[in-house]
Amino acid sequence: MINIAKPIITDEEIDAVVEVLKSGMLAQGQQVEKFQEEFSNYTEAKHGIATSSGTTALHTALLAAGIGPGDEVITTPFTFAATANSILYTGATPVFADIDPKTFNLNPSEIEDKITDKTKAILPVHLYGQPADLAPMVDIAEMNDLKLIEDAAQAHGAEYRGHKIGSIGDLGCFSFYPTKNMTTGEGGMVTTNDDELAEKSGMIRAHGESKRYEHDILGYNYRMTDIAASIGRIQLKHVDEFNDQRIANADFLSEQLADVEGITTPYTAPDVKHVFHQYTIRVADKRDEFKDYLTENGIGTGIHYPIVLYKQPYYVNQGIKGDCPEAELAASQVISIPVHPSLTQEELDTIVDVIKKGSEELLQ
Ligand SMILES: *Cc1c(COP(=O)(O)O)cnc(C)c1O
Repeated sequence: MINIAKPIITDEEIDAVVEVLKSGMLAQGQQVEKFQEEFSNYTEAKHGIATSSGTTALHTALLAAGIGPGDEVITTPFTFAATANSILYTGATPVFADIDPKTFNLNPSEIEDKITDKTKAILPVHLYGQPADLAPMVDIAEMNDLKLIEDAAQAHGAEYRGHKIGSIGDLGCFSFYPTKNMTTGEGGMVTTNDDELAEKSGMIRAHGESKRYEHDILGYNYRMTDIAASIGRIQLKHVDEFNDQRIANADFLSEQLADVEGITTPYTAPDVKHVFHQYTIRVADKRDEFKDYLTENGIGTGIHYPIVLYKQPYYVNQGIKGDCPEAELAASQVISIPVHPSLTQEELDTIVDVIKKGSEELLQ
């Protein structure tokens, strides 16, 4: 089986972890401090606040932005549940706007219609590693006094108009889950250029402490361990190589699959660096049969994502509604195929051959 994802862990990470274990200092300490500094430098942000996951990074960022009960946050329904769940954790309501069918990202022209006097923030996702169209969102946020929070969980190192994502909005949220472009096992990071938002995020991460045992606000234990941070520091040194390999793999697949009937290869906007967390094609007809066929032929796949969030049982039960036809169409058509940096040329060739044959057998 050619897996859909495969983290690259070498002796470098293993040695770094062993060193932390031997030091006896396991929880948040020096390694986290250094990782925050190195990762925020990498994303061109002034501050980095390491957290226990991408989900807790999102929750922390939303709370730091002052989002709470009664507020509304505009986001995409075509994303991993964590994006909108984190809005619910704060007591606020996610309001879903439709996607751009080419990029699969939140469509800036769908946002303004959704703004009410309860709206407090816009939460775009850089889906599959492609930056959302941030410039119009920055303008909308400024004009309406909203916070712009980037869900950058899939887009470490991606760039929008020459700038790293994660520091273009007020806050950025990254995940270091093992399938992402770089990993710490579990882990996350909030990035920001704003001193106050950074300070507040740091407090929320650690039970609202301004100093040891002085709890000024309600916080959580969302800290990252030094064990995880030591892995992240090594991964960060290699993330550009990993991304370059993802991009090269994507270029190869797009070239080879360009004329294959029944599938549409990914579109990349002209002004972005897309880091291909996923390589996601559209299969307009018989997507599920095509997925089964790929599995039977040894190609790992993923459906990112099969159900728009407002159709998930929990959201339906809570009466959280949405009407996003492009997102629903995408959910019925997308399929991700392997693009990760450990793929060999032989595996890439196999993927292409199997897809070409599958198109002839199923899609024509
Ligand atoms: C992975 C992911 C998250 C959550 O990250 P975890 O580290 O798994 O908590 C949030 N949003 C998106 C878009 C993701 O892909």
